[in-house]
Amino acid sequence: MAVGSGERPRHVLILGGTTEARRLAAELARRADLRVTSSLAGRVAEPRLPVGEVRIGGFGGPAGLAEWLRTHRVDALVDATHPFAEVMSRNAARAAADTGVPLLALRRPGWTPAEGDRWHRVASLAEAADALPALGRRIFLTTGRLGLAAFAHLTDLDFLARSVDAPQPPLPRRTEILLDRGPFTLEGERAVLRAHRIEVLVTKDSGGAATAPKLGAARELGLPVVVVRRPEPPSGVPVAVDVPGAVAWLAGR
Ligand code: NAP
Repeated sequence: MAVGSGERPRHVLILGGTTEARRLAAELARRADLRVTSSLAGRVAEPRLPVGEVRIGGFGGPAGLAEWLRTHRVDALVDATHPFAEVMSRNAARAAADTGVPLLALRRPGWTPAEGDRWHRVASLAEAADALPALGRRIFLTTGRLGLAAFAHLTDLDFLARSVDAPQPPLPRRTEILLDRGPFTLEGERAVLRAHRIEVLVTKDSGGAATAPKLGAARELGLPVVVVRRPEPPSGVPVAVDVPGAVAWLAGR
């Protein structure tokens, strides 16, 4: 994206809410030939803000995003949302197709089990809930505050639910809330599992280093882990697995 004299900087919109999105924004903000805007959904009360211009809140579906891309003369769109932000990724694919704005998905790889892991892979939070009664009674839920309703009917189990902001009902009847946000450490995760006498860990296959230590701690303690599989990404959208890959894609536009 070289800029000749008199040309406006190319405008890159990053759909964010992840560590990778913030890293990409920081990387691109150093370049004079680019204008970078990061977009956040506004779910977290005090989000970690990326470097550069930031807008917050939904666009109003794919049509609203397409309108935003046109109005703000966006030259490239990077969907760096969380692998489970399925609706936003679909909307991005639609809006990109409708406007002709090139789209890249920046997706960190999912986790892979290591020797000693006792993983139970499931397709959804509902399936995770179905699996729990057979696995244990004291459950550590790390799937985010918006998914807790899927476990609300499990009134006989004890839950520890970790989230950035306090969850709203419906929640399982016996739920203790742990307000915290990553990155986490192996020592810290081991301490949480021990202090709460956790028997089962529930996680999405989010991937990345920031929240991976819980998997190591569960392995050490021999605990079963219910891992929710990722939704399918929209087809036909190129994918970069890391920030250098996204930078290389932008350079090739
Ligand atoms: P989602 O279900 O895929 O999206 C629901 C709606 O939220 C979208 O239709 C869009 O509203 C709005 N939205 C989502 N991401 C947005 C963004 N980056 N900028 C502007 N609007 C956005 O999304 P979600 O799973 O709730 O995730 C919301 C945010 O949290 C995302 O930024 C994601 O990266 C982050 N996050 C999600 C998870 C997770 O487990 N899902 C975990 C960590 C972080 P409109 O249709 O009105 O445009």
